Formats: sequence, structure tokens, C-alpha cells
Amino acid sequence: MPRKLLPLFLLLLLLMAACAEKSPSLGEDTSVSFFAMDTFMSIRAYGADANTLRDCQSLAERLESLFSTTREGSEIAALNRGETVSLSQETRELLSSALALSRETGGALDVSVYPLVKAWGFTTGEYRVPGSEELSALLERVDYRSISLQDGEITLPPGMEVDLGSVAKGYTGDMLCSLLRSWGVESAILDLGGNVQALGKKPDGSPWRVGIKDPKSEGLLDVVAMRDEAAVTSGGYERYFTDEEGRLWWHIIDPKSGYPASSGLIGVTVVGPEGLRCDALSTALFILGADGAVSYWLEHRDFQMALVTDDGRLLLTPDLARRFTPDTALSYTLEVIPDDENQDLDPLDPGGDADSRDPELADADEKE
Ligand code: ADP
Ligand code: MG
Repeated sequence: MPRKLLPLFLLLLLLMAACAEKSPSLGEDTSVSFFAMDTFMSIRAYGADANTLRDCQSLAERLESLFSTTREGSEIAALNRGETVSLSQETRELLSSALALSRETGGALDVSVYPLVKAWGFTTGEYRVPGSEELSALLERVDYRSISLQDGEITLPPGMEVDLGSVAKGYTGDMLCSLLRSWGVESAILDLGGNVQALGKKPDGSPWRVGIKDPKSEGLLDVVAMRDEAAVTSGGYERYFTDEEGRLWWHIIDPKSGYPASSGLIGVTVVGPEGLRCDALSTALFILGADGAVSYWLEHRDFQMALVTDDGRLLLTPDLARRFTPDTALSYTLEVIPDDENQDLDPLDPGGDADSRDPELADADEKE
């Protein structure tokens, strides 16, 4: 190389090094973990720089500052104090989706459940069992149908309070995936405390493999292969207390009775393309119980689900059954929910016919 060109060459090398730092190749992964929305969140992304991950954290924190019921400065806290609030686009979007899902689930999901959540002490951790008269009085203040959301400003009917806790993490996951995509990130895995969202697939082309927690132990129910999907679990084991008589009460409340849901389900996982819908449905189906959840699935079929019952059954929608590689150490009786409502539930052979599984996902299992 001519001597005159040497400084130019060195400058070029320097520039290349700087660029490499700003936009890592797809092979490199960067990650960030932080605490938001009352849970640990972690994001691992391929091809994202540190700034992009910082933006993700800021976005999650900003959404929390809008949706939190307990932060005085949030839009939801202001609404719950009876103030007239000019909602941000994000709160309007989430509230309107949550109201639509409350309607769609026949009120099993009900964003106006907050007076009950508070009475049971789930916001403060000062748990108590409210008396039946207290619950009856509170139920008068719970009905999502009396909230009307037009553009712009909104005021809640007197005494009414909303809680977006059942859907906020799902919505946040969707927003984070959009943000990452807008920065050109094609491969990432997000864990927002019980909500896992897979963006694209792993850089080696195989699907992300996501563990679904067993509600009865520290172990996993199974590992599901996922791409561009969310897996959201609602479980009684997540937040609960035991009263003086030894009865267990958890944080998912049936808006019809005012009591924590006792539908016979102890864990519900919903898998689908959108985090918000999966989050709303995991909560709602937990309340509806196995029969209600199966009817709901037969009607909609735009998601997959795993239901764990308190009498030791694990019910899977057919697509999920094909993608599940059940841990044989688990003591659940496996059942595949038949497509046809009139058929009886057939037990699934855990050793199953390997050929009936999605060939691409089965392939990925073998790679690991
Ligand atoms: P987690 O937040 O533990 O992942 P969920 O998504 O199932 O679990 O949401 C539970 C939260 O939603 C509760 O802590 C409460 O704030 C709120 N909630 C409880 N019952 C209902 C209900 N029937 N409809 C809407 N929100 C509810
Ligand atoms: Mg939920």
C-alpha cells in the first residue's frame, strides 16, 4: 500500500470499528433486565445496540407510569380519583382493547374490578377476606359496561375504578416488539414476568424454546417452540395468601361473585400472535374454568391454550399438543381438546406419534 494511503486506511479501520459497535451483526446478542410493573423484565435481542435496549426499558417504564393503579401521577390513578382525564394514545388504546375483551369474554375479564382487588388487599399486600355484605356493596361498583370511552376526555362513573393489571404486560410486550422491529431487530426474546414474547426466531433459524411453568412445582410443564408469538400464563400460585382457616385466595377475581376465581383451574397458558390478547385471555379463561375455556376456544380458535385443573388434568388444544414435548415426570393426565365439540376428550399419548407433530418444530426439537 502506498505510504500516503496509510492514514486513510487507518481511519477507515477506525470507522469500521465504530460502526460495528453501533450495529452489531445478527450473531451478537445484547440483553437488559429491569424491574417494572411489579415484576422483573428481561430482553435479549440479536442485532440490537445498547441504545435500543435502553429505549425498550424507557418505554416499559413510561407505560408503567401511565397505567399504574398505585402511582399517584398515572393516568389510571387520576381516573380512579374521579378526575376527568385526557388520555394518552397508549392508555386509550389499551383501555379500549381491554373493554372490548371484557365484552368478548362476557365480563370474565372486567377492567373495573379494582375495588375488589383492593378490598382483598392485593394492591398493598395487607391481605384480608372481606365479608359478604362488603363484597355485595363493592360489586355495585364493578361493571365495565358503564364505562364509555370516546376519544379525548373520559371520567369514570362515581365509585368506579379501573385496573389494567391483567393486560398491561401483554400490551407492553407488543409495544416492545414493535419498537425492536422499528430498529431493524429481527430476533429477540422478552420475558415480562410470566409473559414471554418471541420476536422472530433464533439467529440459527430454529424457533425460540419457551418453558411453561408447572403451577404445582418449581419445574416446567413443558417447553414450547415459538416464533413471533406470545405465551402468557395466569396462575393461582403467582400472588395469593392463606387465611386463618387455611383457605387459599389468589389475585384473579371473579367479577360476578367478588371472590377469587374457583373454577377448578390452577393454571392457564395462552399462546398466540398478540401479547395483549394472550394476557387478557389467560386471566379470563382462568375465571371461566375448563368448560368455559373450551367453549371459548371452539368459538374463536385464534389462539392455543394449556389448562391445568386442580384434579390433575392437563388439557391442550390440538396444535399445542403437537408442539408440546411433555415432561414424562409430570403426573398430569394429558387430554387433547377435540376440534369437534361433540366428541369426548381423548387422552393424549405422551410418547405420541412423532409424525403427527409440526415437522419444522419437531425438527427444531431434535436439533437441541
Ligand atoms: P399477572 O399479573 O400475575 O401476570 P394476570 O394477567 O392474570 O396475572 O392479571 C391479574 C391481575 O389483574 C390482578 O392482580 C388484578 O390486578 C387484575 N384482575 C384480577 N381479576 C381480574 C378480572 N376478573 N378482570 C380484570 N382484571 C383482573
Ligand atoms: Mg392477564
